[in-house]
Amino acid sequence: MQNQIKRNRISFRWLKGSTIAVLICSGYSPSQAEDAKPAPAAPAVVPAVAPATAPAAAAAPVPAPVPAVAPPAAAATATAAPPAAAPASEAKDVSLTADQALQRLIAGNARYVAGSPTHPNQTPQRRAELAKGQSPFAIVLTCSDSRVAPELFLDQGLGDLFVIRNAGNILDDHVIGSMEYAVEHLHVPLVLVVGHEKCGAVSAAVAGGEAPGHIRSVVDALEPAVELAKNMPGDKVDNAVRANAQRGAEILTHVEPFLKEAISHAKLVVVAARYELATGRLEILKESTPSLSKH
Ligand SMILES: [Zn+2]
Repeated sequence: MQNQIKRNRISFRWLKGSTIAVLICSGYSPSQAEDAKPAPAAPAVVPAVAPATAPAAAAAPVPAPVPAVAPPAAAATATAAPPAAAPASEAKDVSLTADQALQRLIAGNARYVAGSPTHPNQTPQRRAELAKGQSPFAIVLTCSDSRVAPELFLDQGLGDLFVIRNAGNILDDHVIGSMEYAVEHLHVPLVLVVGHEKCGAVSAAVAGGEAPGHIRSVVDALEPAVELAKNMPGDKVDNAVRANAQRGAEILTHVEPFLKEAISHAKLVVVAARYELATGRLEILKESTPSLSKH
């Protein structure tokens, strides 16, 4: 597909408008392996997905075709439930199941959508407590787009989310390694892969424009998702955004050793989602565990 990419300047569109780039650690600390919270209770059901080998990050093929567009489950949207105030227990480091973790994120998004966020866990006390160690309850992989900030649109605070971001929310060894650390050492029960409406990186990949410098690697990594979505009816960019999030989530369920093992032992669930810019609404696209699909 690389040879089919036409050379022009269109792919720069998704970088315009940003004036400052910030690179910060998701929270790795070797000492935290010892003071991490206990393993969370296992989700009820996890499907057995066990290909012989793990795909190698961004360049890996999808083990099985992933539907480019999953029918949005009405009940899976943040608007399905009325906004609820953040419970007092959010201030504590508690072990959550994947189901509970997802519910907490959906509730937080509902508050955000309704314009009534509670901004939990952002006090100086919380900050000081977290200096002893972290115990996030969800991993979020999403785009670097300045309009897609997980702690904001999920209404969470310090120490709640283990966030990994890059343009196009693509997978590579660094992203997967970061997730493995969070799963293996911090015992995080949920991975949320979030694409977003009108993603500039995906738009560039769909347009097939020139991608100079290292931007090319981003566009190339999105090509498989563009391929999956190219024959789908409807908006090509949005279809590719959905396909990219679902493909990423699907790949993660097969990555050895830690992620695949955690899923097989019902300690981890991977969820694909799409974020809508104007409304702030999070749409759940696909879950690795059927038992969670009722949400
Ligand atoms: Zn984006």
